[in-house]
Amino acid sequence: MHTLPDPRAQRKPAPTEPETAALAAFHDECGGVLEIKILRKERDAPALLLGVTLGDPRAIALCRALSRWADGIERCRPVCFNFSCDRAFAIDAMPAAFMVAAAYRDDARHCLISGICGNCAAVHSDIEISGWLRRLWPDGRIIDQPRAEGGRA
Ligand SMILES: [Zn+2]
Repeated sequence: MHTLPDPRAQRKPAPTEPETAALAAFHDECGGVLEIKILRKERDAPALLLGVTLGDPRAIALCRALSRWADGIERCRPVCFNFSCDRAFAIDAMPAAFMVAAAYRDDARHCLISGICGNCAAVHSDIEISGWLRRLWPDGRIIDQPRAEGGRA
């Protein structure tokens, strides 16, 4: 029986030594607990830019990380974070959303970023997209953070 090669494997070059080292540093920093953010352009970009304008160090670090991701787009040819979608990104075909995973700590220095194409971002909720990380960490579980919302005291 003949099996077709994985198109993602054909497109994605092997990780470079610095990329492998960065992934190891990410794992060390996380200690098993990740904070996951789904950033949607229309919904989250204004608040992120406001945070940068006001000097919020977390917003500045996130924008720097997204900028580095975009800087590597032509070399890395990233594809959509949805493993069943093979939409490739380029400078003229950027993601509609991003999944950003970082250590759950204020001084996180490393993060993982994956782009999500417009089609997948339109039909999948943030919770569904976060759940796709289980394909990388099958034993992972999502711990919902309490949200600061108005209500009973
Ligand atoms: Zn997609």
